[in-house]
Amino acid sequence: MDRTRSTLIRGGVVLPMNGARLAHDPGSVLVVDGRIAAVGPVEAVAAHPAADHVPVVDASGHAVLPGFHNAHLHSGLLRGTAESLALWEWLERHVDPAHRALTPDIAEAASYLAYTEGLRGGTTSVLDMWRFMEGSARAAEEIGIRATLAPYTADRFDWFESLESNRRLLETHRRSADGRVRAWVGLEHLLYCSERMFREAAALAEEFDTGLHTHSSETRWEVEECVRLYGRRPIAEFEARGILGPRTVVAHAVWLDDDEIEILARTGTAITHCPCSNMKLSSGAAAVGLYRQRGVVCALGTDGEKENNNLDMLEEMKFASLLQKLSTQDPTTGDPWDILAMATRDGARALGLDDVTGSLEEGKDADVVTVDLRGVRFVPVLRGADFNVAAHLVFTASAHDVADVWVQGRRLVQRGVVVSVDDTAVAARAQAAAEELFDRRRSLTLG
Ligand SMILES: [Zn+2]
Repeated sequence: MDRTRSTLIRGGVVLPMNGARLAHDPGSVLVVDGRIAAVGPVEAVAAHPAADHVPVVDASGHAVLPGFHNAHLHSGLLRGTAESLALWEWLERHVDPAHRALTPDIAEAASYLAYTEGLRGGTTSVLDMWRFMEGSARAAEEIGIRATLAPYTADRFDWFESLESNRRLLETHRRSADGRVRAWVGLEHLLYCSERMFREAAALAEEFDTGLHTHSSETRWEVEECVRLYGRRPIAEFEARGILGPRTVVAHAVWLDDDEIEILARTGTAITHCPCSNMKLSSGAAAVGLYRQRGVVCALGTDGEKENNNLDMLEEMKFASLLQKLSTQDPTTGDPWDILAMATRDGARALGLDDVTGSLEEGKDADVVTVDLRGVRFVPVLRGADFNVAAHLVFTASAHDVADVWVQGRRLVQRGVVVSVDDTAVAARAQAAAEELFDRRRSLTLG
């Protein structure tokens, strides 16, 4: 037995997120060699033959749940510098010039930062759209997080990745680091990419038997522009271009009509809801409750540091719930259990990882998070008919309350401290990289 990947997480409020609205309280999770060997009430798990032979972590006073899938983010270094603009002007003024100034080393520092921040807050899996992603792969490998890498590719501007560089990433990282790091095909956006590029991207994903990630239907303007240019709304246009299916994840999907919801459901295409970004850029409110009812797999994502301004999935859950309640004026939507499902099992499903992770079930990889419920903010914690821990997780908890994080059974965060990398060094490197990025951007703009 590998004792570095075997643990008895004992005595917490265990939410397996296995499809039932169920908690074991007090419950335990037994991890043997990186996989979940047993989940259930404390006594039942203690009876497992391996339970006496593994290190024990006392989880009393903690919620224990599957790790979060941040199913849409961008590594980046623009936090707090690109404020109070709507999407398209914001892209032109801040984001595109930063892309022009980016170097592989700066990009790698940004991925180290994003994955460390995510992991510290309970994110065990990211779908990152970024550039020079060999560096992102190195960051994910060292930090220990799961990463699905979808480069920002586009052919209407020359500062993005190309399908050639995406191909090189697929050749080395289609599946690396024991399957923790995977490369997908990325397409920045319908309006950034030619029709030919879409066809070639679909063929590339097919050739490498892998997934595809893009943005769409984030603003009303962009939907109208698509109709003007191509005579169809974006999701219908995507279907015509052959990129939809169970291994495609579309970020945002705010402005969908009934036909587009039906297309997503019929093709098994998942979306990633990014409520904070959608609010901050005044993009709109995706009707996620309706999408889910109609059978669309809906994951949750923070989007980037520049449009959020953090990568806190617990905070994102609260936004997801509140935005549904506000936009529908129906307080019964945005139920905490549904929101938790979006962040865990539905995220795994969107990413095609639901065979290996997304819930605490025997045989799955041990991607586990504990959240410390002992602070004054969580009083009272109640059981039985008054059970309120799902609501605490969605409405009260934030990244700071995450205590422990395991990925494939390795304990990467220990009592609030990231142990797989030195987070002070990660922050210092990213600070220096950001200063270099801003200097380069300034000289490019002036030059
Ligand atoms: Zn995005």
